[in-house]
Amino acid sequence: LFGNNAPVIPRTCGAIDRRFCSRPERTLEGKIALITGAASGIGKATAAKFIANGAKVVIADVNHELGQEAAEELGPDARFTPCDVSKELDVSNAVDFTVSQHGRLDIMFNNAGIACTTPASIVDLDLDRFDRVMAINVRGVVAGIKHASRVMIPNRAGSILCTASVVGILGGMAQLTYSLSKSSVIGIVRSASPELGRHGIRINCISPFAIPTRLVMDEMNHHYTGVGNQRIVDIIHGAGALEGTSCEPIDIANAALYLASDGAKYVSGHNLVVDGGFTVFKSLGF
Ligand code: NAD
Repeated sequence: LFGNNAPVIPRTCGAIDRRFCSRPERTLEGKIALITGAASGIGKATAAKFIANGAKVVIADVNHELGQEAAEELGPDARFTPCDVSKELDVSNAVDFTVSQHGRLDIMFNNAGIACTTPASIVDLDLDRFDRVMAINVRGVVAGIKHASRVMIPNRAGSILCTASVVGILGGMAQLTYSLSKSSVIGIVRSASPELGRHGIRINCISPFAIPTRLVMDEMNHHYTGVGNQRIVDIIHGAGALEGTSCEPIDIANAALYLASDGAKYVSGHNLVVDGGFTVFKSLGF
């Protein structure tokens, strides 16, 4: 391939790095994580996964009752702080609460989000609802990145994660407002990664396929009134591209664990799609 100009490959190149082989478990030992929207669904599953891997987690959620319950259920390594991500002061306070409790912030997961039913025609689009979705799904994520960076930059380290969605890649009129908010999350991650990278901070997002969490069930019940929860779960699972399995919160928690850990120490600006091949399937036109 290189003719007479073959590169001299250092002897260390390809050597096994024992740091990553010798500790296959508890990859977040001693790390401090803040997860928004962790009172239920993907955020709660990720909080449990992070704790099982040695992290201490602060759950930030607008739902005080569920958030407190989740913290109690997850045990002494979980704490709850009330936070509405559409309010910058709440996000700033959640970051400061984490630092005051644990001394620093290593992992910020901007996961909180809401769904949005979009009318069949753009002519009927509710722009007040549009503003609310953007305030949580986009502004809330930007606020999370801003305030996590504020405390991570002086430490010259950190991992920021955000939850996007497959519809942020595929788009679609059926979910115009929501899709746009999630495309924006993918865009923010790409845009912020060069600057944060210069401070040793990685930023990535995850795009899940549909999972029947509270957010999705509420939305689908709105669409399919009277159909019943089990039928809706069947519709969601039936839409997947991978036979014999379906997307669950734990699949996203596993992706988040990887991206948050040192195993992904050279991964930044990336959108990790967890969809069983759905977006490829769709782009091929099947
Ligand atoms: P969920 O309803 O179980 O969890 C969402 C959490 O966010 C809830 O605990 C809710 O109280 C919280 N929340 C809502 N508004 C908030 C606000 N203003 N401030 C703070 N917290 C707020 O749903 P989920 O599916 O686990 O959703 C988590 C994320 O995953 C969302 O960003 C969602 O858009 C995204 N997502 C979900 C799916 C899916 O199919 N479930 C697919 C792709 C992306």
